[in-house]
Amino acid sequence: MILISPCRPNHPRSCPLLLALAAALLMFLFAAGARADEPYARNRDYDLQHSKISLRFDIENKKVLGDVIHSISILRDGTTRIWFDSAGLTIESVSLNKIAAKFETAAERLIVPLPAAANAGEKFDVEIRYQGKPTKGLYFILPDKDYPDRPIEIWTQGESQDTHYYLPTYDYPNDRLTTETILTVPATWQTVANGKLISTVDAGKGMKTWTWKENVPSSTYLITVVAGEFEEVKDSWHGMPVTYYAPKGRGDRLAINYNRTPAMIDLFSKKLGVDYPWEKYSQAMVDEFVAGGMENSSATTNTSNSLVHPKLVPEYVTGQDELISHELGHQWFGDLVTCKDWGNIWLNEGFATFLETVWTEAHFGKEEADIARWENAREWFEETHLYKLPIVRRDFEDSSEFDGNAYTKGGWVLYMLRRELGEESFYLGLKHYLEVNRGKNVVTADLAKAMEEATHVNIDRFLGQWVYGAGAPKFDLGYGYDADKKQVALTVKQTQKLEGRVGLFRFPAEVEITTPSGPKLFPIIVSDAAKTYLFPASSAPLMVLFDKGGQVLKSAEFHKEKQEWLYQAKNAGEFADRADAIVALGKLKNDDEVIAALGDALRNDKVWAIRALAADTLGHVETPAASKLLIEALTTSKEPWVRSRIVTALGNFKEDEVVEAKLESIAHEDLSYRARSAALQAIGRLRPPNSLATLQAAVAADSPDGFLRNSALRALGALGNDRAVPLLLEWAAPGKPIESRAAAINSLGRLEKENKDITKQIAVYLSEAHFPVRMASVYALGSRGDASAIPALEDLLKSNDLSIEMVPMIKGQIARLKNPQAARGLPHPPSDEDGDDEEGPAAVDADEDHGQSDVGQRLGKLEHLMQEMNERLKSIEGRLPPPKH
Ligand SMILES: [Zn+2]
Repeated sequence: MILISPCRPNHPRSCPLLLALAAALLMFLFAAGARADEPYARNRDYDLQHSKISLRFDIENKKVLGDVIHSISILRDGTTRIWFDSAGLTIESVSLNKIAAKFETAAERLIVPLPAAANAGEKFDVEIRYQGKPTKGLYFILPDKDYPDRPIEIWTQGESQDTHYYLPTYDYPNDRLTTETILTVPATWQTVANGKLISTVDAGKGMKTWTWKENVPSSTYLITVVAGEFEEVKDSWHGMPVTYYAPKGRGDRLAINYNRTPAMIDLFSKKLGVDYPWEKYSQAMVDEFVAGGMENSSATTNTSNSLVHPKLVPEYVTGQDELISHELGHQWFGDLVTCKDWGNIWLNEGFATFLETVWTEAHFGKEEADIARWENAREWFEETHLYKLPIVRRDFEDSSEFDGNAYTKGGWVLYMLRRELGEESFYLGLKHYLEVNRGKNVVTADLAKAMEEATHVNIDRFLGQWVYGAGAPKFDLGYGYDADKKQVALTVKQTQKLEGRVGLFRFPAEVEITTPSGPKLFPIIVSDAAKTYLFPASSAPLMVLFDKGGQVLKSAEFHKEKQEWLYQAKNAGEFADRADAIVALGKLKNDDEVIAALGDALRNDKVWAIRALAADTLGHVETPAASKLLIEALTTSKEPWVRSRIVTALGNFKEDEVVEAKLESIAHEDLSYRARSAALQAIGRLRPPNSLATLQAAVAADSPDGFLRNSALRALGALGNDRAVPLLLEWAAPGKPIESRAAAINSLGRLEKENKDITKQIAVYLSEAHFPVRMASVYALGSRGDASAIPALEDLLKSNDLSIEMVPMIKGQIARLKNPQAARGLPHPPSDEDGDDEEGPAAVDADEDHGQSDVGQRLGKLEHLMQEMNERLKSIEGRLPPPKH
């Protein structure tokens, strides 16, 4: 899955609505962090082989009415009872082989005693009739009095262990079953479930029954149901149905965002040597999705934020392709071959992340993939809590199993494995892995075994350091040139602290030495704590590169002179080496030569990401020369993904009238909506004389999906001018677009903090069903610091329509209001200049007085993590581009 797509923290590189998504991310982090998923696979008493799942929905009461028949085969002699996971469901009856049976319920379990001790191989059909109002797993998105025209949407989200909140079942990955899903819904609806559509039959009284059948077994967390008022677009891949669904009214956005899906299916089928394994591929985009995307077998569900407005689509370098290719990649890695337990989740997520870059490389070119990988590495190192944790582990206390190790580092590990084995051997190994494990559950050792069988290369050491071991190498590098010996001596020191699971790393690398007579490449093996390598060089080098092209996940401090960095920034052939040089030059700050070189990179580098990075770097120089270069570059930089970065960089220049005038004009009019949005944010931070009027005007103006309005509403919080309150109250009100409301409520959290009427007004929004509004309100109340909101938050905890992911978030804000001292003492994000810090609330410490210190500390930790995540999202949004076509 993608978190923001619940499977991936940093995945939304390409999503334009990151801030909206941040809400989903926060929710997921809390959900995952606050609940310990079972790290080890369970023992099994039976094999669940097939489930016939019949569902109806009581929309008014948000209830599911179910009848499921599980066909099971006993695995152990002497089994006297069986049990299913079942949470919050009312079990009406159970029958065994059509005979009424006794049953008991316990916390999250339905227990069924067997009539007599059963032996291995005995088969039972267990029919369960039930109903319930799911608190998670299945969600109802419905029209209401404020949004009477909203389409009805019902959708599920099973991963990690949430299917049993709407369906009594075996809810752990280490079992596989086929399914028949029978959905009876109003005749005007669409439905989607796993597998092939077998029939649609008139069920009378304006109802219709849809029957879907999945004949390829997969795990229960991959079961999906989507039903409601959707529009459908049909596509195909070699005759196989490929379908896209959008909530009613947005069908025209499907093709423009999703039409590269068949090309991706084709690419992955060819690369992996195993054809796409399911009977169809559908992608249903749903509102208020709790994740970014979820790879249900043959039927992915994605956030409707991926249905980008056609006018905004050209503003993103890779469009929605990362999300689409990620979830598609899971159809092989995750669905066809599934991790046996959550400790091995990287076998799902690392592969899906890797396959994103495989698509990027094939479709957008090597450099675009290099950019993604380089950015991923930086992001992974920034998430410092990940460093000491191995990818395969059983303790999810310090970090959810769905963290940057499973995704970002997992993807990097596969990239490095491909490089070490070579493209051909690597894919030969993957083909074998998929073939021998098709339809099975796996652990990392299965990957090692398959790769060795296919390639005769033992990858145990490789996995030992990168997957079972923690961290990544950190280097201290330097070289000297001996003119007499005509020799370069390169000293390579591994400086990571050798502790816990972090050891020394061993890997092949390339050193490139460039002299006036040209570049020369030298392969080396790095393995020692410190070693000096000697290379011949006819004259003093102009440039020495260690690990040319950044092929290894690492950080490095290379001691070079300014002139060498300048040369590297201009002349290195690979993106990663030029990017590293720009970063190094940025540390030299107020140096005319450096500023000129950054300006040169900003104008002339052939790769957009270098130009954008040069803009970021100049933004931190903050001299008139730097702002001048940035403003000049606006005349030549047409790509929205570069332009918006330049504008964001300009937002660092305080009290500079030229900059202020430029931002003002961009905010009013520019060829790029993203640049205009960045200008509005910058104006909120810089607070020039006209800022309130400019932001108010932007709120009043129309743009695709209210893109600029929402930016301006957020910027008003950063601006901190209380005169904006009436406008924010207007846009926070029911009936306005949900995302605009969330932005306005967010900003209200920061203004007129003494005004209890605002607190009261926000508290009223807590009772609304719309997740983004609720979330924004919870955090806005927390950031106002007005303790009079505590009873409203406490009442919210008692409400019966609360998805349970929200509970820890609400408790966190209550703790924050009760104990502001503790909240102040904890670290804050590096900057709150972006004006969006409410979404990453201040951390909360233990509330000792209330005997909740464990909970408090945990919340503190999680909230801090969320803050980091938000900062990252913001920086990603700034840096990101989307699809070239
Ligand atoms: Zn995923």
